[in-house]
Amino acid sequence: MSANTLRKAKKLVESGGVSKIDDDLFQIKSSSDPDKSYFVTSDTCECPGFKNFYKFHHGKGLKANCSHLEAIRIFKKENS
Ligand SMILES: [Zn+2]
Repeated sequence: MSANTLRKAKKLVESGGVSKIDDDLFQIKSSSDPDKSYFVTSDTCECPGFKNFYKFHHGKGLKANCSHLEAIRIFKKENS
């Protein structure tokens, strides 16, 4: 995971862009478009970055990551 992803994730949490909907469902504001938001669980995300990951890395056994998934991890750590 890149340092840029982590930095974006921290910013999302710090700016209050993460809202908890349910035990494993979060709504996260898009960092590029404040009017947009994504529904995210602990291992899936609706954003284009997450979807594209599997397109580019198909069959390599890697797990997709994006700033939103990382934001949830930080959010959970801070709120547990
Ligand atoms: Zn995402």
